[in-house]
Amino acid sequence: MKGELAMDDKIMRLQKILDESRYTVALCGSGMIEEGGSANMKNQDLAYKIEQKYGYCTDELYSSAFYNARSELFFTFYRNEILTHCPELTASGPALAALEKNGHLHCVITSNIYDIPRRGGCKNVINLHGSIYENQCPRCKKQYTLEYIQNYPRKVPLCEKCNIPVRPLISLFGEMVDSQRMTKTTLEISKADTLLLLGTSMDSDVFSQYIKYFAGQRIVIIHKKEHYRDGDASMAILDCPKNVLPLLR
Ligand SMILES: [Zn+2]
Repeated sequence: MKGELAMDDKIMRLQKILDESRYTVALCGSGMIEEGGSANMKNQDLAYKIEQKYGYCTDELYSSAFYNARSELFFTFYRNEILTHCPELTASGPALAALEKNGHLHCVITSNIYDIPRRGGCKNVINLHGSIYENQCPRCKKQYTLEYIQNYPRKVPLCEKCNIPVRPLISLFGEMVDSQRMTKTTLEISKADTLLLLGTSMDSDVFSQYIKYFAGQRIVIIHKKEHYRDGDASMAILDCPKNVLPLLR
């Protein structure tokens, strides 16, 4: 570990890595929503509260089985917990967009459903698990906005034409991740010579299966939580991405 380096030195080193990198890809994990004040659903206290409140655990509530068979409960949970606790935008999104504009960042892949990089201004974004901003009727494919889902006067938002529940285009538990997004993610990571892990770690549940396709030189971790595998990366900065990314250019 190179934990002895002062922040200024780390930023200088990281800037040099970015300057020398031909193709840089950022992976955004749960730390990117936690820094905006949103809790990770895997947090044990929160998981317990949800189970007390709804009588089911998050994995069940946030599942395709519930969406299909118990849509009232699914949408109550989805609107009250997932949409209401949308994270605040931080300095990370615009900082990523600035790096992309300067040619220092080529693709941003996020496992969060809040579309933070694109809302910050990034162009080449893969929302691996989909986005709360995309909603569609499963039958006629009509698109609906987030506001439509939020403000629908009844518990289950229905398609205006088909009168069936509108589907938020997000990956629910018990479903395969969209295969096109998976393929694109693998391709982008295999092209990269620098990988930025933002608010996530080498052993991430979501990303570890993709990180194995990385054939480049450097992995840089920017994450508040220390992880025992941080030493496997070229460098690790133990801080929130919002405190680090705006210092780069
Ligand atoms: Zn429809």
